[in-house]
Formats: sequence, C-alpha cells, structure tokens
Amino acid sequence: MPEPILTVDNVSKIYASGHKALDGVSLTIERGEILALLGPNGAGKTTLISLICGIVVPTSGTVTVDGHDIAAQYRAARAMIGLVPQEIVLEPFETVIDSVRFSRRLFGKGRDPAHVERVLKVLSLWDKRESPVKELSGGMKRRVMIAKALAHEPRIIFLDEPSAGVDVELRKDMWAVVRALRDEGVTIILTTHYIEEAEEIADRVGVISEGRILLVEEKHALMRRLGRRQMTMHLAEPIAAVPAALPQAALELADDGQAIIYTYDDNGPAIGDLLGDIAASGAVVTDIETAQRSLEEIFVELVSTRNGKEVAR
Ligand code: ATP
Repeated sequence: MPEPILTVDNVSKIYASGHKALDGVSLTIERGEILALLGPNGAGKTTLISLICGIVVPTSGTVTVDGHDIAAQYRAARAMIGLVPQEIVLEPFETVIDSVRFSRRLFGKGRDPAHVERVLKVLSLWDKRESPVKELSGGMKRRVMIAKALAHEPRIIFLDEPSAGVDVELRKDMWAVVRALRDEGVTIILTTHYIEEAEEIADRVGVISEGRILLVEEKHALMRRLGRRQMTMHLAEPIAAVPAALPQAALELADDGQAIIYTYDDNGPAIGDLLGDIAASGAVVTDIETAQRSLEEIFVELVSTRNGKEVAR
C-alpha cells in the first residue's frame, strides 16, 4: 500500500476556554479518495480541518501531510493543501483572474498562465476572468473560492460545507468538479451537513461527534453493515399475530394487522423461504414493498450517543 497522504495521530484540542473540541482523533487518508466528514454542529469538524491546515495548534498528537509534520515542516505541509473555507472572503475590486494569481503567489509559486486558465475553465469562470469579484453572483464567488484554493496545485483539498447556501444546480456542478479533481489524483476531504452529498460523492464516510471519530468506513460497506433493509408484505386479510411457525425475531405485524414487516441484513432468513412459510400459514400476500435505511437514518442513529456507543468500532 502506498503511504497515506495524510495521517492524524491521536490528536486532542483543548481550547483556552477549557473546552475539549477534539479528543484523541486518529485518521488516515489515502491518496485520491473523497472522504466526507459528517457530524452535528459543534462536533469538531472545523477544528479538525484547521488543525490539519496548521491554523490551530493541537494540545497533543501529530499531523503528517505527505510525510511532512505540520508543526515542524509547516510550509512544505501547508503547500500540499488547498482550503475552501465556509465563508466567502474575497477582495471586491480585484478581478477573478488576479485573485487566483495572487493565491498562487502566496505559496511562492511562479507564474503559470496555463494552470490558471485550466482552473478557471474547469470552474466555468474563464468568461468572467476580467470581472471584478463584486459583480459576481454568490454561486460564482463560491467558485472563485475554489479556484483560489486550487491555484497553487495542492494535492489535498478541504471543502468546508461546500453546499451551504448553494442551489441545486451549482451543487451538482461542484460535485462534478470534485469528481474531476479526484480523477486527477487530488485527495478531497469535505465536511457536510447534507447527508445526500456524502451519499452521492464520497468514497469513505467519517462520522465525528463530540470531538471523537465514531467511525470511518467505505461508504458502500457502511451502508451494507448498518443500512438494514425492510420488506413489507401486505396481506389480503388482517391477522391477529405473526403466525407461530414463522421466525419471530425479525418479523413484526403492522398495527392494522394487514402487513408483516421483515427487517433484515445479510444474515436474515432467505426471502423465498419466508414467503413460502407465510403462504403455508394460510396468509395471502398481495403486495410487497422494500426499503433500505438511508445514510441519513444511519447517521442520526450513530450520533445519538446511546447507539453511537453500540455501533462504534
Ligand atoms: P459546525 O458544524 O457548527 O461548523 P464543527 O463540527 O465545525 O461545527 P467546531 O467549530 O470545530 O465544530 O467546534 C467544536 C467545539 O469547539 C464547539 O463546541 C465550539 O464552540 C468550540 N470552539 C471552536 N473554536 C473555539 C475557540 N476558538 N475557543 C473555544 N471554543 C471553541
């Protein structure tokens, strides 16, 4: 396995106020993946990102970016990272292209008109390159923030809540840009409140709550492990109880007695057998509906502490 591009090792952060925002966080990020960090307000997401970018100093623990320690080799480590913060911070009178060139120079990178052109084109900003930033729409300004973060050719991009206050169209465009960057080998870490966003574009999902990482797992594996499925079998006539011959543990009767609900994962009884047993009991199934628990439901269950402790590994 190649060396991970980012390693966060046992990091804790206690702010001067005494608040423990991060508590023993360890995280390894592979090259070229998209990781979505999910967590409720105040979970510590921004603190974690700020710490990786060297903006916040950890109370204990280390962060290594492509082999560079963020404290001891700050410049080399920071040059690897492009940060797109939540708030839009731009010089209103500067033109789009100047603002991107300026960001590049900040990292001591020489002129590279071809790179700047490519970034502006990818973000559909090329036609607006000579416009002062203040004349752009909110969505366009957000694109400029991304362009600025890409100006110095970082290998890791952090997007803090990229979809906050963005319309559906721009959100989809941004997802396309994120995927294109990933295809070029850029590693992407985003924080989000939109579970749909994680479900749509992430390779792995990390859940953070009260300063601790509850899990980091490949998205499809997570959905398979925790995304229980449910099958509702509607009956021709109501029944009083689940027939005794059926496996009781995974079955429940709908309130009106007109449906049997089967909740299952990969280890449950086979559906064919179950339907056969229901028919043998004399009940007639007229219709079947299936549903899978969404990432949103999994997330809500995870961050409610009771369940978080049960499923965290
Ligand atoms: P949100 O989703 O609301 O942006 P978050 O997960 O990014 O939340 P953080 O901003 O990292 O959370 O904050 C984590 C905790 O640390 C919060 O309780 C916050 O109030 C606290 N905190 C953040 N910055 C400071 C600071 N400079 N001094 C003291 N406490 C802070």
